Amino acid sequence: MRYALVHYHELTLKKGNRAYFLQRLVKNLQHGLKGTGAGPIERPEGRLLIALREGADVGEVRVRLARTFGVANFAIARWVPLDMGRLAEVVTDTVKPLSFASFRISAKRGNKRFPLTSNQINVELGAVVRSLTGARVDLERAELTIYVEVLEKGFLLSLDRTAGPGGLPAGISGRVACLLSGGLDSPVAAYRMMKRGAHVIFVHFHSHPFVTRASQEKARELAELLTRYQHASRLFLVPFGEVQREVVLAVPAALRVVVYRRLMIRIAEDIARRVHAQALITGEALGQVASQTLSNMAVIDAAADLPILRPLVGMDKEEIVHQAQAIGTYEISIQPDEDCCTLFTPKHPATKSTVAELEAAEAKLDVASLVHASRALRVGEIR
Ligand code: ATP
Ligand code: MG
Repeated sequence: MRYALVHYHELTLKKGNRAYFLQRLVKNLQHGLKGTGAGPIERPEGRLLIALREGADVGEVRVRLARTFGVANFAIARWVPLDMGRLAEVVTDTVKPLSFASFRISAKRGNKRFPLTSNQINVELGAVVRSLTGARVDLERAELTIYVEVLEKGFLLSLDRTAGPGGLPAGISGRVACLLSGGLDSPVAAYRMMKRGAHVIFVHFHSHPFVTRASQEKARELAELLTRYQHASRLFLVPFGEVQREVVLAVPAALRVVVYRRLMIRIAEDIARRVHAQALITGEALGQVASQTLSNMAVIDAAADLPILRPLVGMDKEEIVHQAQAIGTYEISIQPDEDCCTLFTPKHPATKSTVAELEAAEAKLDVASLVHASRALRVGEIR
């Protein structure tokens, strides 16, 4: 019988959260592995053991495990009865067809009552493999590592161990609303929050019919791709062109970007409250563009009561691009679109602003009714 053997980082778990963490991880795995032929999940001795039925799509199981937050690493493992003779036979059969010049055995005991220590197992099996293949033992840089886990019900034998994404199981940290543009940064910001266990609701502002629907399509595609990591998402599409037109008429050019952002934040906060999200997320990074200075961030913060979290604040563009490539959002984000902000954006936004200045500029707008009007116009989607 084959299993997917999943390890999680126990040390990062606080005692009280452990049971909840595990319950959630198991639930997410059950959901995430649907349709792959993976069977029931057991939890022996600090690990998760997922039975793989006859004909299970092992490649797909690997893909899904590699994107399930909370998974530290995983392997496809074979079950062997708790008998050293039998283990030696199975190891022999397993390594016979392989060619390697160096190897190591890495035994771990989850079952502390097993009479041999990990080291004794390593030595005993090492001798078997060495005499069979002539390969040398190399503890530092072995070409092949043979993992043996000793559990109550048997040994688990595996040759591969793949790093998982780490993080916390999706949904464990509560809900947040991410301001998702079609750009590179905000999808990465959403991903990083998901990795810390937040369930992300997406809010996209578009300027249709002043521009094409391209940005909405991108937001949809991005939300869909990111849904891999949390299984179901909501995306709110909010028309913003009319709001921007009013801003252009009433607010001096230099302050417009920050006024747009403050309006977006207020509308997003309105949505967040309805869906019980506890924080807003943006893709801002310190100093990345003129509008993302400390003083502008402070002024944007002042427009909201909910905390605004900026998971990318300390990242370089290069690091963000790299991460976008790794999670697959890069190719979508670089498609051309007409972002609502490019249409009405001044060439030289103010890099410094104060709340007093902004409040004076916004006094010419009916902010409450702009936010209120957007309620009727926004479209929520579930995918
Ligand atoms: P991004 O790459 O995420 O578009 P950016 O570098 O283009 O970010 P800005 O245009 O200043 O930076 O936007 C800062 C943040 O404001 C974005 O990361 C996003 O969270 C939010 N934002 C900007 N435009 C929109 C939009 N049209 N809809 C939703 N959120 C937006
Ligand atoms: Mg942008």
